[in-house]
Amino acid sequence: MSNAELLARRSAAVPCGVASAMPVFADRAENAEIWDVDGNRYVDFAGGIAVLNVGHRHPRIIAAVQQQISRFSHTAFQVMGYESYIELAERLNALAPFSGPAKTIFFTTGGEATENAVKIARAATGRSGVIAFTGGFHGRSALASAMTGKVRPYKWQFGPALPDVFHVPFPGPTNGVSVEDSLRALQFLFSADIPPEAVAAIIMEPVQGEGGFNVAPPALFRAVRDICDMHGIKLVADEVQSGFARTGRMFAVEHSGVEPDLVPIAKSLAGGFPLSGVIGRAELMDAVVPGGLGGTYGGSPIGCSAALAVLDVIRDEGLLDRSLALGERMRTRIERWRGKAGLLPISAPRGLGAMIGFDILSPDGNGFLQDGGKLVSTRALEQGLVVLNCGTIGETVRILVPLTAADALVDEGLDRLEAALVIAG
Ligand code: PMP
Repeated sequence: MSNAELLARRSAAVPCGVASAMPVFADRAENAEIWDVDGNRYVDFAGGIAVLNVGHRHPRIIAAVQQQISRFSHTAFQVMGYESYIELAERLNALAPFSGPAKTIFFTTGGEATENAVKIARAATGRSGVIAFTGGFHGRSALASAMTGKVRPYKWQFGPALPDVFHVPFPGPTNGVSVEDSLRALQFLFSADIPPEAVAAIIMEPVQGEGGFNVAPPALFRAVRDICDMHGIKLVADEVQSGFARTGRMFAVEHSGVEPDLVPIAKSLAGGFPLSGVIGRAELMDAVVPGGLGGTYGGSPIGCSAALAVLDVIRDEGLLDRSLALGERMRTRIERWRGKAGLLPISAPRGLGAMIGFDILSPDGNGFLQDGGKLVSTRALEQGLVVLNCGTIGETVRILVPLTAADALVDEGLDRLEAALVIAG
């Protein structure tokens, strides 16, 4: 079956509400390379949207999963538990980016993780208010999409969002918002819409993913932490995209020096197998009555086995340091493209570690190029590179290359990305 045939079948059988970034279809993948059904080879700078920090089909993860399915594939932890769930919780509790005792619960998707972090915060505080940031992405389900700070395409068309969820502006390169502006907006919110003592949680991505790889300024993080402490609000650091060595630390929030209360995790946690969770301060995590949290597939034994192997790989292959080194390598190269004749104009690279993005600027010198990131990712595919865009107006190119990729492959991907930046004509 060819790409063209599959595209036609997809259009007829699958609704357009689930978009695809590219019109080609996967045949097989290995570490940071993918081959499509027509036999074309691509360097993978997308990692299945930040899921593959340890690459496609890492042998240790495949072995762990095979070992697990030779014993059992599902019991439902709520019916009969298993050691891998408990062991993974223990290991994540030891890695929690805050001091004091931690507990961890598992789910399946990132959206479930963010929603459940809020459920726990609500149960622990007896309050309902939630504050999130513009440009933030926390998922597509009801509460998660209410927290997501972007109307189109995530909220528009779906009726009223859940009540008691509010947004304040997040500082980003395209919006001119400063840390002071964000904090003032928070104070306005407290006086106009909800008093701080009615707020259960403030949720923030340490590095906004879908919103444009915008690093939360440490000053904002610290000020928000202070406000949380002052008013008994729980701070939720959404590490779904930024976690598991992507930024050179196990969790991106560690760069800020701020300790969150609850940490939703997913994506690279299980290296390609569906698993998510919430790591939280132990005293909060027991606030929900038995049965109030969970899900049939939550903490699947396959996902837990894969995740235990992911943690081993991150440790044994030194992926925290690798992420920093890769980040430096990519930054240096991207910096050289700035102002280079014949290339589309770009911003300075930004991000932490190997979580790197840059904006496509308007060739007429007028700010950012709307959908410039999309344009470049489309052209990159023609060059044999899978890379994603993000940003509130689609202006950003984001790189999420597996941290296990060799330098030569990363350089090959960067060559292809540079070729995609060449001004056409
Ligand atoms: N939070 C963040 C920061 C994300 O990047 C995402 C997914 N892009 C989610 C939550 C939602 O995860 P999922 O798509 O697995 O529900």
